[in-house]
Amino acid sequence: MFTHRLVFPASVLRGRGAIKHLGAMCGRLGQRALLVGGERGIASVEEQVAEQLDQQMVSYLGHDMLTGQCCEEEIKRLADRLKLQGVEVVVATGGGRALDTAKAAGVLCNIPVVTLPSVAGTCSAVTPLAFRYHSNGQFRDMYPLAYGPAAVVIDADLLATSPLHWLSAGLGDTLAKWYEYRAISDLGQLTGLSGVARTNSELCFTLIKHYAADACEAVRKGQANLALEQVLDAIFLYAGLTSIMSNGAHTGAAHALYDGFTACEKTRHIAHGLLVGFGNLCLLALENRSDEELLVALELARASAIPVHLNEISPDLSDADLSLIIDQSLRAPDMANMPTEITHRQMREAIARVQTLSLVKT
Ligand SMILES: [Zn+2]
Repeated sequence: MFTHRLVFPASVLRGRGAIKHLGAMCGRLGQRALLVGGERGIASVEEQVAEQLDQQMVSYLGHDMLTGQCCEEEIKRLADRLKLQGVEVVVATGGGRALDTAKAAGVLCNIPVVTLPSVAGTCSAVTPLAFRYHSNGQFRDMYPLAYGPAAVVIDADLLATSPLHWLSAGLGDTLAKWYEYRAISDLGQLTGLSGVARTNSELCFTLIKHYAADACEAVRKGQANLALEQVLDAIFLYAGLTSIMSNGAHTGAAHALYDGFTACEKTRHIAHGLLVGFGNLCLLALENRSDEELLVALELARASAIPVHLNEISPDLSDADLSLIIDQSLRAPDMANMPTEITHRQMREAIARVQTLSLVKT
């Protein structure tokens, strides 16, 4: 008997200026708060976080700057500090790796975590999952957490000031929700849960198709607009719901190719969603979709500033590098979700077809 466990965040605050509710949210959870995140994330929010906590008379204990991967050592180090300092609530900022590290450490010592993403690279802010890496940067596993964030604060004004490639990464990862879900789900086995996951993932695709170009423009200008708010909802809320409803089993060849890229030193530092975004295109080619469909997907990827050619990912990838990446992708658990077995040659041909079509003038 399989029990389906759905873990939602307790509260979600979204929209422009949502950060103004952070202090009240934290005040309900604890009286001693620590800000946790990467260097850029902390720099972009610390002043507002401290002010918010001050308004609610929550003690601000300063910040813990994460430097490494979301790996077991870093999670344990942070958990030890949370216990040692008597932290009662964690405000986690940054991107997926920082948020995942903070969520995992919070669960380890039973301290509530409020996520305040400063970049929109993944839906990590809402999920009860941590993507763990080895300390050398190679992907390790998708680690399920006992509970999700106590609250999520998605502030479009804050996210409009983040570098564009992070929004592009979020768009790539969120498009995968639809492309991969469609590729791996069994339409003959419709249930309410799979239907919600499917509908949410298709909504993600529709919103991104409609709003991606204008949302990217908003980030280029550093000024939030409706399009940015809509794609942020897709990245965090609807994509997050897809992950939660499908219990993590929503990934396929695009994420497997990402896993492959993490085996190569030249590509492992590139944002998850940018590599997944390229992987989406290869997935469509693996499914033998028509040139017309691929060209539409390529245009959407370009509008979202997602790489459409290996040269845009790394200019000096050798044939041996590509073989290593493909071999690793074939071993990835995500690849096992595909309806048919994928061979090295098929993956190579899929990548070559995407690259050829990427050069077609439309
Ligand atoms: Zn992903």
